[in-house]
Amino acid sequence: MQSGDLSFLDSVNASFDLAADALNLPNGLAHQIRTCNAVCEMKFGVELQGGYEIFTGWRATHSEHILPAKGGIRYAPFADQQEVEALAALMTYKCSIVNVPFAGSKGALCIDPKKYSLEELEHITRRFAQELDKRGLLGPGVNVPAPDMGTGQRMMSWIADEYQKLHPNEINARACVTGKPVHFGGVQGRIEATGRGVQYGIQEFFRHKDDVKNANLSGNLEGKHIIIQGLGNVGYHAAKFLEEEDGAIITAIIERDGALFNEKGLNVELIYQHKMEHGKLEGCTAGTFIKDGNKALELPCDILIPAAMEGVISKSNADRIQAKLIAEAANGPVTFDADKILLKKGVFIIPDSYLNAGGVTVSYFEWLKNLSHVRFGRMDRRFIEAQGAKIIKLIESGIDKPLDEVAKMELMKGPDEITLVRSGLEDTMCEAYQEIKEMHDSNPKIHDRRTAAYASAIRKIADIYDSMYL
Ligand code: NAD
Repeated sequence: MQSGDLSFLDSVNASFDLAADALNLPNGLAHQIRTCNAVCEMKFGVELQGGYEIFTGWRATHSEHILPAKGGIRYAPFADQQEVEALAALMTYKCSIVNVPFAGSKGALCIDPKKYSLEELEHITRRFAQELDKRGLLGPGVNVPAPDMGTGQRMMSWIADEYQKLHPNEINARACVTGKPVHFGGVQGRIEATGRGVQYGIQEFFRHKDDVKNANLSGNLEGKHIIIQGLGNVGYHAAKFLEEEDGAIITAIIERDGALFNEKGLNVELIYQHKMEHGKLEGCTAGTFIKDGNKALELPCDILIPAAMEGVISKSNADRIQAKLIAEAANGPVTFDADKILLKKGVFIIPDSYLNAGGVTVSYFEWLKNLSHVRFGRMDRRFIEAQGAKIIKLIESGIDKPLDEVAKMELMKGPDEITLVRSGLEDTMCEAYQEIKEMHDSNPKIHDRRTAAYASAIRKIADIYDSMYL
């Protein structure tokens, strides 16, 4: 982010204030909702091969109006407390927006994971889990981490395993963390969930013709030109689904070392494989390589999807952005100041607090699966298939001829876990989009979707506080 813009935390708070001002809340309630309840800084030593090393980590619990509090753990060399607080606040609002019954939390460890072996990372992660547990910041009913930048499935299993060791009598121990591998209590579809949610959110935008018109767009996703920044977990899945399933044309992909551009469209899978093999985009012949990747944010396109990190669109470049729609897959990619410039230009922004909520939504499904100790679909799949077979029999006897085999298979297929997870996620993203739009359309003080999303969250949280203090 360029100097002169509000910090990430100040941006989140400024967006909150705009939304709270548009609502008629009891005196002081907005301040209570906005305030971060607790932040814990932990310093702990770990014995590694070269000797003892001290690590600094944080866990912020932004709110406790519902428990558990939920939010990822980030491993990054630039992690700091302010960023953790901003992300924890966003989690509170995000969960409320998508009607997931969690409060917001977030954690980070100041570390460059690439500098450590797998064994060292396991050792460090288990120590971090002990520190969190010791301070009451880990547990299925209190605080449930998940992966974020620099962390993944493997680390989540180490945390779950460590917690299980510390609490051998806790039957729901595995629900202390989400984003685990499926064989260790995870749920199908969690890895792709945030990218999938981004796809569902953009699809829902195109179902609302007035929104499409306001963004100076027309039609549907087919043939739309998209630029995506960040080919990591979120960016890769979003880009792949939009290209392969919706017929969108990905014209540019931006990574740390530069960008690839091809007006006719890039093959996302091919570029992802290149990045996995070489750790960079340079050298990939799928498009023209642009060394200054940030410049590619400013190329003409229909949709710009920042899916890398915060603050990439700031006062310094907002004026040059040519996209008609910005779909915020990353957390905080547009600063508060840039937001104002873009809105004045007529750019339609689908905000992060809504659009990247697919991860926490499917984490919620995983948590439910862990608490119920049963895979989704296990109880009813065969039953639904048997019902389908009966319906087919009735139809066939009514029309006096057999249905074609493909139609039969479709009708008889009972839902498996991945189908149910995708269906629950799609429903969540569609419902939340409609709630935000309704808030925007019905409140004359609200002029954009970010404010509407925050207002939708604040209204629901305020209702919970109201009923607590009846
Ligand atoms: P990731 O580490 O898997 O991927 C990030 C990608 O962005 C990497 O490929 C990295 O090389 C690239 N990148 C980093 N800085 C860049 C820059 N300046 N320019 C271009 N590319 C850059 O992380 P992720 O999990 O995909 O998360 C991306 C964003 O989405 C973050 O803001 C994160 O907080 C947010 N988010 C992630 C999830 C999730 O489920 N993973 C959920 C909600 C929000």
